[in-house]
Formats: sequence, structure tokens, C-alpha cells
Amino acid sequence: MSIKNNLNRIQSSLPEQVTLVAISKTKPDEDLLEAYQAGQIIFGENKVQELLGKYERLPKDIEWHFIGHLQSNKIKYIAKFVSLIHAVDSFKLLKAIDKEAEKNNRVINCLLQMHIAEEESKFGFSPEELEVLIHDESWTSLKHVKIVGLMGMATYTEDTQQIHSEFALLKSYFDRFKTGIFKSKDEFNILSMGMSGDYQIAIEEGSNMVRIGSSIFGERHYIK
Ligand SMILES: *Cc1c(COP(=O)(O)O)cnc(C)c1O
Repeated sequence: MSIKNNLNRIQSSLPEQVTLVAISKTKPDEDLLEAYQAGQIIFGENKVQELLGKYERLPKDIEWHFIGHLQSNKIKYIAKFVSLIHAVDSFKLLKAIDKEAEKNNRVINCLLQMHIAEEESKFGFSPEELEVLIHDESWTSLKHVKIVGLMGMATYTEDTQQIHSEFALLKSYFDRFKTGIFKSKDEFNILSMGMSGDYQIAIEEGSNMVRIGSSIFGERHYIK
């Protein structure tokens, strides 16, 4: 299957309100261009240097999302062009993004990452930490970042019941914030959950943004 066919098949299977982010990490420029020529505009990367290189070489109307763990000292490289940062997992990082966005005269859209998986290794706020951050309201003083929703990753497991319940948990927080503290902020509107292996479940549980890599571009090979 070609990238174009994979993309068309996935795109046509998604409900209208669901945005597809094509996760192109580790993939060469040609692969992204093939997807771009098939109509894909939003791409996601998880390494700053790789994202920067692709941004510089590829068409300028691509919308770049950063989906990985972001280090504060690297924000400056992507602040002038990144359109959404998916995985903000501390207030410190949010403040650092705000600072770099201000230098670039921009407002950068961010999602807060909630830790919903069993695995220790996955970053993100615990539900309790997220509550504290949201209700503390210090974030409202940051004028160059906009919190536009939540993001999460489910446990990598065959147990679909567990995946359902992890996504359902994230959705319940999303709904609570949306009808509560963010009630007057229409921009709080994105629930980023679902990858190649679990995006159908995520959509059933209310996702409106899926991050799909290997089902579009094929398996990743990390050997350099
Ligand atoms: C790599 C990655 C994806 C895409 O994973 P696939 O299984 O290839 O679809 C989605 N989200 C994040 C945060 C990732 O790092």
C-alpha cells in the first residue's frame, strides 16, 4: 500500500469532526511530500532538530505539531512556526513556551498532557496535578500561550477494555474542564487521543484529533 492509499483510506474512515495529524517522525522528506501531495497538511514530529530541518525544507503551508516531550531550552528553535504543542506536562514548560512565543510575537496553542496509561514511562500530569494547575489559574496570566485542550496516550495493551476506560477517563476530564473553568473559552476544544493501534477506540470515546504514524507511513526503523 502506498502512503497516498493509506492516507486516503484512513482519512475517509474518520468522522468529519476528527482531525488527522500525520506522524512523520523518522520518515524522510519524500514520504511527507507524498502525503502532502495527497492533501495532508498537518504533520507531527517529536524531535526538535528533525522538525526544524523538515520545516526548513518542506512546503511552507504545512502545519507542524510537536508531539513529543519538549525540553525548555529547545523551544526557541520551533517557537516561530509550530502550530500546536501536544504534550505540555508542567507549568514550568508552559511558562517557557509563553516566553519564547512572546519573543516571536505569537500566541502558541498548547495541549496539556494527562497521564492515563499504566506505564511509568509515559509523561504527563496526573489527574490530580492537572486539577491543581487548572484551578490555580496562574496560567491565565500567560498571554502568549493558549490552552486549547488535552492530550493523552493509552497503555500499549491488547486489552481493549482497558484502552476504552483510559480514554474515557481523559474525556471525562476534558468535558469537566470544558463546561467548567474553560466555559467561556471556545478555543478549549481539542481532545488529542488515538494512534495507529487504538484510534478507533479513541474516537468511540470522544477523540477529535488522532495522531497516526505507522498506519500511514509504515513501520519506523530507528537504526541510524
Ligand atoms: C509516534 C507517536 C504517535 C504515532 O504512533 P503510531 O503508532 O505510529 O501511529 C502518536 N503519538 C505520539 C505522542 C507519538 O510519539
